[in-house]
This record gives sequence, C-alpha cells and structure tokens, in this order.
Amino acid sequence: MSVLIVGSTALDSIQTPQRENPRLLGGSASHAAVAASFFSTVKLVGILGDDFPKRYLNLYRRHRIDLEGLQIAPGKTFHWAGEYEVNMDNRRTLETELGVFEKFSPTLSPSHQAAPFVLLANIAPALQHHVLNQMRRPKFVVADTMDLWLNIALEDLLRLLKRIDALVLNDSEAHQLTKADNILVAAKRIHRLGPKYVIIKKGASGAFLSAPGGIFLTPAYPLAKVVDPTGAGDSFVGGMTGYLATARGPLEKNLRRAMIYGTVVASFCCEGFGLQRTTKLTRSKIEQRVEELERLTRF
Ligand code: AMP
Repeated sequence: MSVLIVGSTALDSIQTPQRENPRLLGGSASHAAVAASFFSTVKLVGILGDDFPKRYLNLYRRHRIDLEGLQIAPGKTFHWAGEYEVNMDNRRTLETELGVFEKFSPTLSPSHQAAPFVLLANIAPALQHHVLNQMRRPKFVVADTMDLWLNIALEDLLRLLKRIDALVLNDSEAHQLTKADNILVAAKRIHRLGPKYVIIKKGASGAFLSAPGGIFLTPAYPLAKVVDPTGAGDSFVGGMTGYLATARGPLEKNLRRAMIYGTVVASFCCEGFGLQRTTKLTRSKIEQRVEELERLTRF
C-alpha cells in the first residue's frame, strides 16, 4: 500500500559544534519520504525552487519516490538554518525562509487522492488541511507538527486534530498543547481533542504510544555518537508509517512494531548530517538493528 507524504522539501544549513554544513537536502517530507521508502511506495507532495540541486532530485529517485506531486517553481527552495549546542539536544532555529512554499497550494492527482495512508509531515496546518480535503477515503492519517504551529496556528491545528487518526509530537510540544507535565495526562487530553492514537517522542529517551488498547513504550536505539539529529523525528514518523502501510493484521498491534522501525530509522538518521546516512541505508541494515533493539529490551 502506498503512503502519501506532504511536508517541507528543503535545503538545510546545519551547524554543530564540530561542523557547518550549508544547503543539505532536508525538510520534514524529505526525511519522512526516504525513511518510508524502505518499506512501501511513497508519493511525495511538495514544492522546490529552481535552485534545488539536481543531485538531490536523483536521491529521491534512487529511493523510488513518486515525484508526480513535487512541483518545481521559479524562486528559492524552502531554506532552514539551525544550530546545535554542545550537548546536541538543544537546537536554535537561525533562519526560516519559506521561498516558494509561500504560494504552495497543491492539487492532487486522482491516484494521489486514493492513497490509503497519509502522512501530514511538519508544515503549516492550513496546508495539511488542504491536502487532507482532497483525499478520498484514507485508511490511516497521521500528522506531525512543531512548536511554531502551536504558537501561530493553534486554531488550524486544533481543527486538524479532529480529522486525523494519529498525532505525533515531542514531549515539550505535548506539554505546550495540554499544559500537563505528566505524559499520561497529556496523552489523555490529546485524545479528547480528537486523535485515537497519540505518539509522544522523547528524543534520546524513546517514544510513547497511547492507544485504545493501552500504552506502549520504546527506548531509543543507544548511540555512542550523535552527528546530527535533524530530521530524526521526521524519520521516525516516516519509517513508522511506511512499515504500517505494508503490515497485515490489526493496526494497533502493528503500530507497536511500526514504532520500533521508526526508532531504528531515526537512529541511523542521527549518525550522519542531514540525510547522508539515511540515504545509504538498506532494508537489511534496518532489520539487523531491529533485532538488536529486540535483544536489548527482552526480559
Ligand atoms: P526535526 O529535526 O525532526 O524537527 O526536523 C527538522 C526538519 O524540519 C528540517 O529538515 C527542516 O527543513 C524542517 N523544518 C524546520 N522548520 C520547519 C517549518 N517551519 N516548517 C516545515 N519544516 C520545517
């Protein structure tokens, strides 16, 4: 089954205490699409400027990502610049230039409208609505978000929550949205806002699922060295949704295993700048790490 992914397709400039990397391939949808591509067919919806390097387009193609919904418009590609502190946890956004995203309003083709799985990766909630409005009868809709939209587009986001099956957000965003310090209380409050499934990411401390059948916890895969965590959240939700789209059986049961796959793809993402490590992955490397994580957590 295919996954339709809409979100930012970007050039990222990332500064860490070790290195500065300008104009890497990035964006929430790029990370999510590459992560999902190891499991299922991906239809990418986004917009690029005419400054977007051809070699990056070829990277999407190498992952067999369907680019029918990827527009190229005159102007600048979305550009995000961020800087990490020494601990690699705290990140500061230095610059966000919307570029061609400012006038992006995609019209989906009939085959895109029929995609059974929809991943609304991090982008303005109004755009997430716009895409969802065109979908025919999706089986599963998951949305990601960020603190920016909680600050400047809360009403749109709250309307979106009533229309989706699952919300993925990080622990500080869950706190900001619900004012709850406790993760169980935060999840309960988010369920009341709409989503049946609430997934709260906790960075190096793993991820938490709250579902009708109960809760599920996964640790993060332990890494001795984090090179660049940019896109880890997007890789998590992309890997998770890609796996889910191909798994048979009850969705809630699959969701647990899907979170493990998301965790593993996100761990690879952290081992290289931007998408450099993720784009060199294979399904068998992912399976090996899933087995390792299984061994590390069995008791
Ligand atoms: P993450 O590290 O999972 O939070 O995702 C980082 C990615 O999100 C980068 O590749 C950025 O290009 C992208 N990004 C940053 N700010 C925004 C924004 N305002 N809207 C959409 N995508 C963004």
